[in-house]
Amino acid sequence: MSDHDMTATLDTQISQNLEAVRQQIQTAEEKANRPHGSVNLLAVSKTKPISAIKTAIDCGQTHFGENYVQEGVEKIKYFREISPQHPLCWHFIGPIQSNKTKPIAEHFDWVHSIDRLKIAERLSHQRPASTSPLQVLIQVNTSQEESKSGVSIEEAEQLCQQVSQLPNLELRGLMSIPSATQDPHMQRQAFLQLSDLYQSLKKNYPSFDTLSMGMSADMNAAVDMGSTMVRIGTAIFGARG
Ligand SMILES: *Cc1c(COP(=O)(O)O)cnc(C)c1O
Repeated sequence: MSDHDMTATLDTQISQNLEAVRQQIQTAEEKANRPHGSVNLLAVSKTKPISAIKTAIDCGQTHFGENYVQEGVEKIKYFREISPQHPLCWHFIGPIQSNKTKPIAEHFDWVHSIDRLKIAERLSHQRPASTSPLQVLIQVNTSQEESKSGVSIEEAEQLCQQVSQLPNLELRGLMSIPSATQDPHMQRQAFLQLSDLYQSLKKNYPSFDTLSMGMSADMNAAVDMGSTMVRIGTAIFGARG
């Protein structure tokens, strides 16, 4: 195949995948007796080229998730330059080192991975006054594995309290990455814990409207347990190299 044909084939694949993922979300919403459109789709484009993102945009996708600061910022700048009018929304979903907060605060619209006050304070301080507040989620670790990032369920309330005071951040809810498991029962258990925590915090935080949980392998369980935003990479863009 020529390079051109190869690109055309990939484009077709991405648009078909995107359609299938939208259908899967809709079916999961129906099964859970949730209104159509109650789950937002975040397309996770990390490691994928600009061309793949363009294809998704052509299919109507507007929310994109990135894990790596430099790569994400380059993509954001590129799309702001070529189509400043296009309302794309960029979510930072990866681990955050404190020396990398500035470009995140300056370029992204959302951050899902707030797991300590210091990071939140830096992001608030570095958010330019000319832009709207950074929309943030607290990352919660329900699996209690030492290696995973995120606060424990017990710590979440205090961090929400602190983050909600920061001037240039708007606290929108919670995010979680449960440990990878194929077992639907285990998937549902982890999501249920997060969902319970979200519902109880929501009483104190009226700005809470986002529960970010569910990836390619576990989106059905996540939607069933009340996710309002699934973060889907592989099922849209294919496996990452
Ligand atoms: C990579 C990534 C995803 C997407 O995972 P897939 O399994 O490819 O859908 C979602 N959330 C986070 C935080 C990720 O790092």
